[in-house]
Amino acid sequence: MAVKKNSLKRYKKKRNFKVTPEPIAKKGIWKKVKNPMFVIQKHASRALHYDLRLEIMGVLVSWAVPKGPSTNPKEKRLAIQTEDHPISYGDFEGVIPEGEYGGGVVMVWDIGTYRNLKVSVDGSLIPMSHCLQNGRIEVFLQGSKIYGGYALVRTGSVVGEKSQWLIIKMRDVYADARRNPTSTQTKSVLTGRTMMQIKRDGE
Ligand code: MN
Repeated sequence: MAVKKNSLKRYKKKRNFKVTPEPIAKKGIWKKVKNPMFVIQKHASRALHYDLRLEIMGVLVSWAVPKGPSTNPKEKRLAIQTEDHPISYGDFEGVIPEGEYGGGVVMVWDIGTYRNLKVSVDGSLIPMSHCLQNGRIEVFLQGSKIYGGYALVRTGSVVGEKSQWLIIKMRDVYADARRNPTSTQTKSVLTGRTMMQIKRDGE
């Protein structure tokens, strides 16, 4: 299994590391981990959104989810694929200066590990890199706020270099139409801080 080629080029190009506190793009070193990382960062840039990132082949493959993930299987939510991020971005929390790319507050809203659930007809697991390429991902997210199966499905529409996906809660015992974690659980899973507190601490 190789590291995704030239994967962090766009990440580097968009940022000035003399100004932003975000981690520099170190080349990913792929090691076969049994439980790869997932993170959801709440990001108050031009428009508030949630960035879902899955560790695949040594980088964090990323989607901007405007409304954040739902726990209701009936709610399909838009997820726009953005540039891959370095693994070290996973626990980044802070303030990106105004005027910089993505300027605004970043919170680690949820973090944990995930398991690949996507099996082929013969019952064998389809590697995540293939799932990504096929535009059909099924993962079991093991976080503090988000727990259970989620499907990510590419819809085909591509705007510029960004492809559009939908994120959908899979039907399992963790599905719950009444929960609304994005509005009821608003603090950082790492530091317990609110967006306001992260902002104040970053100034
Ligand atoms: Mn973002």
